[in-house]
Amino acid sequence: MAGTYFDYVIVGASRAGVSCAEGIRSLDSSGSVLLISREKVLPYKRTKLSKELHNNYGDQDFLLHPPGWYEEQRITVYLGAEAVDLAPHIYTLFLADGRKIAYGRLCIASGASPLEIPDPAPVRYLREKSEGQSIFREARDWQRVCVVGNGIQGVELAEQFKLMGKEVDLTGPDSRPMASRVDPAMSKLIEQDLLDHGVHVRNRYTLNETGGRSEWDGIVASVGINPAALWLNDSGIETLSGVVIDTRCRTSEAEIYAAGDIAEPVFPFTSGLWHSAEYQGFTAGINMAGGEAELEQKPFRLKLDLFDRHFYALWYNPALEADPGVESVKLQQDRDMEYCRIFHRGDDFVSALYCGDPSIGKTIITPLVRQGAAFREIVEGIEKRHAVRPV
Ligand SMILES: Cc1cc2nc3c(=O)[nH]c(=O)nc-3n(C[C@H](O)[C@H](O)[C@H](O)COP(=O)(O)OP(=O)(O)OC[C@H]3O[C@@H](n4cnc5c(N)ncnc54)[C@H](O)[C@@H]3O)c2cc1C
Repeated sequence: MAGTYFDYVIVGASRAGVSCAEGIRSLDSSGSVLLISREKVLPYKRTKLSKELHNNYGDQDFLLHPPGWYEEQRITVYLGAEAVDLAPHIYTLFLADGRKIAYGRLCIASGASPLEIPDPAPVRYLREKSEGQSIFREARDWQRVCVVGNGIQGVELAEQFKLMGKEVDLTGPDSRPMASRVDPAMSKLIEQDLLDHGVHVRNRYTLNETGGRSEWDGIVASVGINPAALWLNDSGIETLSGVVIDTRCRTSEAEIYAAGDIAEPVFPFTSGLWHSAEYQGFTAGINMAGGEAELEQKPFRLKLDLFDRHFYALWYNPALEADPGVESVKLQQDRDMEYCRIFHRGDDFVSALYCGDPSIGKTIITPLVRQGAAFREIVEGIEKRHAVRPV
């Protein structure tokens, strides 16, 4: 089959891939751009999949851009097209349908796939919208649902099935929900919220212990992700678990960049996050178009809206609890803040956790951290409303 040439080719049309196209277009309005997606729908907000499942996504497409945007930007989009191989020495990408694409520069933005659990029973996974739609269809006949994985997506899925009127067991190997993302006190609030809404929380519980699956009509697992890098096995591109990149999103091969969940993290707390994929994609696009952009450590927060509560975590990891150089303060609870804990190393801000009014994170913590504010300034920013007391 005859080959086609594009100045820029992007494999994967989700947050990182679309941001890469935006980055390219911010500097180069005329170079030819091809965006390739294995999915059959235009790029959409993947994060909504576990937040709007209960209403089968309503009639919303959650599109990143309206359909006409791609044409306006002169971006060619191949939907339902899968890249299966890459030959950097001849600047050629191979698609499953036999097409060969020659490129000037290429960005790998093929994201991640769910880790699967070894289980003979039919287990469902949620990464793509079509998977969400089939889970919704099947769940109409389910009374009892087991959600495997007590990380953030497991917690969100438990809420969604509860909103659909199901009996829900939230199971996971960790001793508490979201153990790697929040501290024990915040886990407790999350767990209590789930219990208050009728979710059966089974911590330290792996499916294998039960022996049988007859308890549940449906099992949905969310136990982690693997970078979708299998198709690059013969390309010679350096990978660890993901594609290795530098601070300009360059890979080990000339003219090939990578961004988003496919990339090995350059900074801690940046993997598996929507805004991090957006930032990396845009940075890659700028560099592909001849600009100069460097990745920096940014405050990409994790947020969880569970039933009617809002939880926020920035740069938390459980190792902070044992770090002798790190201290923390807890801010006093009040009407719009149930819990808040700020970690610091001397004057330097390290991490923040809170449960309360969404505006505290949005208008105080994230902007101050972005400006490089010291720990005390961040506490003072919140202190206007709250008294601080040491832990
Ligand atoms: C249910 C769910 C909820 C989430 N909630 C949050 C949240 O609340 N906050 C947050 O920060 N993050 C959240 N995330 C994570 C966030 O969605 C990801 O970090 C982000 O989507 C990564 O973007 P990406 O473009 O790197 O990869 P992806 O979004 O995974 O997109 C990669 C695209 O590439 C395609 N692709 C893969 N291989 C090929 C190939 N060989 N050829 C062609 N196309 C290919 C895939 O089909 C996919 O369309 C959530 C993820 C899921 C699944």
